[in-house]
Amino acid sequence: MPARVYLDYHATTPVDPRVLEAMLPFFGPKFGNAASRSHSFGWEAEKAVELARKRVASLAGAEAREIVFTSGATESDNLAIKGVAESRRANGNHVVTMATEHKAVLDPVRRLERSGMEVTVLPPEKDGLLDLTRLRGAIRSDTVLVSVMYANNEIGVVQPIGEIGAICRQAGVWFHCDAVQAFGKIPVDVERDHIDLMSMSAHKMYGPKGVGALYVRRRAPRVALQPQMDGGGHESGLRSGTLNVPGIVGFGEACELCARESEAEAARVGALRDRLKAKIQAELPGASVNGSMEHRLPGNLNLSFEGVDSEALLMSLPDVALSTGSACSSAAVEPSYVLRALGAGDAAAHSSVRFGLGRFTTPEEVDYAAARVVEAVRKLRALTPA
Ligand SMILES: *Cc1c(COP(=O)(O)O)cnc(C)c1O
Repeated sequence: MPARVYLDYHATTPVDPRVLEAMLPFFGPKFGNAASRSHSFGWEAEKAVELARKRVASLAGAEAREIVFTSGATESDNLAIKGVAESRRANGNHVVTMATEHKAVLDPVRRLERSGMEVTVLPPEKDGLLDLTRLRGAIRSDTVLVSVMYANNEIGVVQPIGEIGAICRQAGVWFHCDAVQAFGKIPVDVERDHIDLMSMSAHKMYGPKGVGALYVRRRAPRVALQPQMDGGGHESGLRSGTLNVPGIVGFGEACELCARESEAEAARVGALRDRLKAKIQAELPGASVNGSMEHRLPGNLNLSFEGVDSEALLMSLPDVALSTGSACSSAAVEPSYVLRALGAGDAAAHSSVRFGLGRFTTPEEVDYAAARVVEAVRKLRALTPA
């Protein structure tokens, strides 16, 4: 067995060695600035960036000119949400989102609210899915943007994005989708899904950290966006700043690999996830799944272990990298707001563990992790009187 097992693929993924290989020359001899128009160092970098742009666009079902490179999905979410709110201020003053969104969506929305925007935050159903009737009811004549994520980073639940997109398109409201967890794992298509703006991040799909993209629809209908970063006018004026050429090259390579391999990978990873779930549930009573099992990313499992504090559980498993949904604030451990939104009680929220499997997860690692978790849960339960 390896010294440690990584099952936290929703937090970040290892860089695929093929991605690293593609990036290396751009830290070395191909160091040019993609904005340098007057020599071959610049042209070389620009050519590499444009190839990467095509590859990202292709995996998203978009056109290359609709891809804006950013520093990651946090920036993409901010640019989409604030950029639309500012550019459409004359059209309306209302934004709709969901309680289970990533903080990179919820916090910009909250900032808009403090500056006078009206905000509707929709609760999910018990299984984590958005009720479409609820969405239709929330859209008003002054709504300018709906932001709903493709797949959740804690419970892996995949929303009915195509239907959500169709509702927004029909209502004449821009639809932003944080697709970080879905992109490169399951088929995502901005045309099929009627997505107008979409956030992506390289480090969640075997690319490097610190690079991402925002898809901005340019055709039927064209989305106007207020830039959030002023400067040299890079990325069609939507995101100024010298491009992270090595990162972008790596992102492009990561997309190319996902385009070729994600279908087979999803089947393999999904089978490993099911094996992990079966092994744990066969040995442990009171291990229940959070969120829909049917509408779920192949690499995600989120379990609550009855009677077990998940922080204590993770502490007793130093060689297995897992995550609780909880966030440590300075004073206390806050239970996951995502599970709370699903209606989970304090106990279930405090006993939840997220398992994230991915490209480099092996059956041996799954068996090892399952055995370690079962052992640790039994120990903790024996310590605490029921
Ligand atoms: C990781 C993540 C982000 C933030 O992406 P960065 O590139 O790390 O800024 C945003 N949304 C979701 C759903 C994520 O999982």
